[in-house]
Amino acid sequence: MFEKVLFPTDFSDVATKALQYVKELRQAGTREVTVLHVVDQANLDLLGTYSAVGDLVNLEREILKRASDEVGFVANELRQCGFTVNERVMQGSPVRLILRLAEEENPSLIVVGSHGKSNLEEMLMGSVSEKVVRKARHPVLVIKR
Ligand code: ATP
Ligand code: MN
Repeated sequence: MFEKVLFPTDFSDVATKALQYVKELRQAGTREVTVLHVVDQANLDLLGTYSAVGDLVNLEREILKRASDEVGFVANELRQCGFTVNERVMQGSPVRLILRLAEEENPSLIVVGSHGKSNLEEMLMGSVSEKVVRKARHPVLVIKR
């Protein structure tokens, strides 16, 4: 039923909790997982406000490399559980790119954390998970913090 899963992660504690549930989905028939991290363009733009152009190029390269490494770690954990795993790192708007990849890959399920790096006390959900739940055509499993 949940053959193919899209797992967008910001590497936060809540997303790491969600990862444990993705692993459990092996028992529910999941075979293939795409691990996606989006480097938020808004954050890069902010960095650009405070750094010289040359520094920013190096910084962006470093951030993308670290993002790939982190996605790689998560992917390997899942491979050890027997999943076939695709690794994706994208740069831009997290919501837009998560939704676009969902359209392209047509997963049976999207798994997200209810919150991410901000993890504000009074918020029912973060803005990314809220918009994914609201706008995706696919079923979404939201793992609470
Ligand atoms: P906000 O970002 O609105 O301040 P938040 O950081 O607490 O709030 P979200 O960003 O909505 O919460 O994170 C919820 C979930 O969405 C995360 O656990 C993760 O699964 C996914 N997610 C968030 N940001 C990204 C990202 N940049 N790339 C991939 N997945 C993400
Ligand atoms: Mn966030």
